[in-house]
Amino acid sequence: MYIPFVDLKLQYQNIKSEIDNALNQVLSDTAFIGGKHVNEFEKKFENIYGVKHCISVANGTDSLYIIMKMLGIGIGDEVITSAYSWISSSETISQTGAKPVFVDIDEYFTIDVDLIESHINAKTKAILPVHIHGQVCQMDKILSIAKKHNLYVIEDCAQAHFSEFNKYKTGLMGVAGSFSFYPGKNLGAYGDAGCIITNNDDLALKCRMYARHGALRKHQHLIEGINSRLDGIQAAILNVKLKNIIEWTNGRIKNSFLYKKYLSHIKEIELPIVRNNTVHTFHLYVIKTEKRDELMDFLLNNQIETSVHYPISLPNMIAYEYLKLNKDNFPNAIKNESRILSLPMYPELTEDQIKYIASKISTFFGYEN
Ligand SMILES: *Cc1c(COP(=O)(O)O)cnc(C)c1O
Repeated sequence: MYIPFVDLKLQYQNIKSEIDNALNQVLSDTAFIGGKHVNEFEKKFENIYGVKHCISVANGTDSLYIIMKMLGIGIGDEVITSAYSWISSSETISQTGAKPVFVDIDEYFTIDVDLIESHINAKTKAILPVHIHGQVCQMDKILSIAKKHNLYVIEDCAQAHFSEFNKYKTGLMGVAGSFSFYPGKNLGAYGDAGCIITNNDDLALKCRMYARHGALRKHQHLIEGINSRLDGIQAAILNVKLKNIIEWTNGRIKNSFLYKKYLSHIKEIELPIVRNNTVHTFHLYVIKTEKRDELMDFLLNNQIETSVHYPISLPNMIAYEYLKLNKDNFPNAIKNESRILSLPMYPELTEDQIKYIASKISTFFGYEN
């Protein structure tokens, strides 16, 4: 039994006729940039998320940058984010001219809220929590710290479509939420794509304008902006996939329970834990073990692909050497580098496959199956 880390082919096979029809429709409409499929996507995402504004953009990195830029964050400012994320979360802070300030993570892989306040100073303008792996950050604490110090909260939801904290969906708790529809994300296009959501009318208008060369109407450039647009083909694909997204999300959650059922007896590994009163949507299923590299090789020899997200934490990246950080401040993020392992996780994964993966992990640690 060969089990790939992700299986985008299988998902495509399951919805092939709908996807192919949607693509043909875009071609016959020649609605390549903007146009009806993009408008339809924005409306659909607003409805399914229960939000006033969805601004589609080219990817989930631009969305972060545009939000911060339009909030007026720039040179001389600081933005606090997690030491453990994809580099988009911090490189976009630098893109605005501001300085990224890293904070270590807790046992849920998300920013440690008890460490945030000691990093706040007169330059701090915002907190950028990352809902990593589909796990929501401790948002009640983050929101109250932000309120106390008059800071914006910008949610990086690239890995957490439809995750919830106390019934609030990701992206709706801060001033804005940033989403990626990179192909491997829980909701993925067939190329780069992303969006911004917000209930703030003024911010929505500014973001839309900035992402479209500073113009809301053709040739009426009120400011200089950038070119960050969702194309029609990606929008049409996302429109098809939105019909299945809740079912797929539930499939991931179900598979997390199956992993727990079949892996709980293995003392040598730590399974992911889910924060209380939240919905974790399992973009990734990340276990921890001291024997990470050996286990990874063993599983590959048994036809099971795994991956590491991420082998280098942000403070350890060469890109951030210039910040001259004291690495002792990020013990959890750095300790994870050699211990974390992402197991295959997608809605199409079957119970038999999960049982097979678990039995191999069990064998590796010397348990009888
Ligand atoms: C994927 C990702 C992004 C960036 O999304 P792109 O669409 O690839 O630009 C940002 N933040 C996190 C946490 C991500 O996982």
